[in-house]
Amino acid sequence: MQLKVRSVPEVYIFATVVSVVTCTLVALMTPLFYPIDPVPNPPSFAFILICNLLVTLSITFMVCIWGGYQLLEMYRLSQILKQLVERDKLTDAATRDHFFRRIQELEGPAGVSLMIDIDLFKSVNDTFGHLAGDQVIRRVADVLKSNVRRDDIVCRFGGEEFVLFLPGATPEEGWAIAERIRADVADQVVEVDEARIEVTTSIGGSIKGGTEPIDASLKRADQCLYRAKATGRNKCVAFIPPLEEAVGA
Ligand code: GH3
Ligand code: MG
Ligand code: MG
Repeated sequence: MQLKVRSVPEVYIFATVVSVVTCTLVALMTPLFYPIDPVPNPPSFAFILICNLLVTLSITFMVCIWGGYQLLEMYRLSQILKQLVERDKLTDAATRDHFFRRIQELEGPAGVSLMIDIDLFKSVNDTFGHLAGDQVIRRVADVLKSNVRRDDIVCRFGGEEFVLFLPGATPEEGWAIAERIRADVADQVVEVDEARIEVTTSIGGSIKGGTEPIDASLKRADQCLYRAKATGRNKCVAFIPPLEEAVGA
């Protein structure tokens, strides 16, 4: 079990709990050592007990406050690290590494994989600049996030390319989501300074069997994406076994 201190109030709760436990132990143990060594006119038991408790409380509380703040700092750093490893900075979509880890955690889920690529994006950068291009990528990511269910995984696979995995989705559901995303992106207008930027996406889809590695499904989705690009862009192409032929091309 990992001890987590997540806020300043929790530092004080941590210090108080440890101090109370330590003082209780001291109070229980004091009679065992009283008097440790008989001396003439020994101080009263109550006096010894109070002294013990005061010393224990002051030392324990101070040390625990210090320790609590160290734990809090560790927690904050671990959150920053988690964010850096798991989320893409520009879009807050899952990173590629996190995507594969999530799929592994789901232990062989069946579902639908979608590969989504912004069409002719280089010309957006060339015409409006990279910062405007970044805003377009962010807007596309928002469209993806707003079109999926809670358990679906939205990943920025690289550059202007995203991967979506829809666990448990049927081919029909996958196709409907892909079409909705394609249409939704095409409807967007990103306003940067005086410019109004419109983009489209090409989407390749493939179903993934429960025992099949995700790579195989992504490879098929990628082939469909290339087919979508080659046949005019702004379209969805899906690979649906066992017919083993692209639908929508
Ligand atoms: P296609 O329709 O065939 O996909 O054409 P495309 O122009 O979208 O594809 P291409 O691979 O030629 O260009 C992708 C561009 O995406 C090139 C690269 O500079 C740009 N890009 C990649 N990552 C980022 C990013 O984070 N921000 C911005 N602004 N541009 C990016
Ligand atoms: Mg592209
Ligand atoms: Mg690309």
